[in-house]
Amino acid sequence: MGLVICPTHGEKIIMFVCPHVSIAVVFHTPCHNIEWCAYSAANDPELSDISLGCWFCRCCITEHNLPPHGSVIPDPEEFLGMQSRLYQPMCPDCFKEWQDCGLGDITSA
Ligand SMILES: [Zn+2]
Ligand SMILES: [Zn+2]
Repeated sequence: MGLVICPTHGEKIIMFVCPHVSIAVVFHTPCHNIEWCAYSAANDPELSDISLGCWFCRCCITEHNLPPHGSVIPDPEEFLGMQSRLYQPMCPDCFKEWQDCGLGDITSA
């Protein structure tokens, strides 16, 4: 786990969001129906603890055919290679404040 240095909150444990959520948080604009998707790499014992978690907007999930939350990624390196530009680092406190303002509603299934 890396750290992100936020100008407002200082050093924080990094979290990931898609580029659209990232822009929405920075500019304090709404981005609704976001979804938390975490993937695991259970097939590889060395990587089994790694969970690739990210908040995605509806567009990213549809456009990139992202697997549903909880999916096992057979080849995490290839997956991250293909999807890495979707994983934007984010300060968890900024994200929380943005959500607290009602700007990032979560999809309710
Ligand atoms: Zn997106
Ligand atoms: Zn912050």
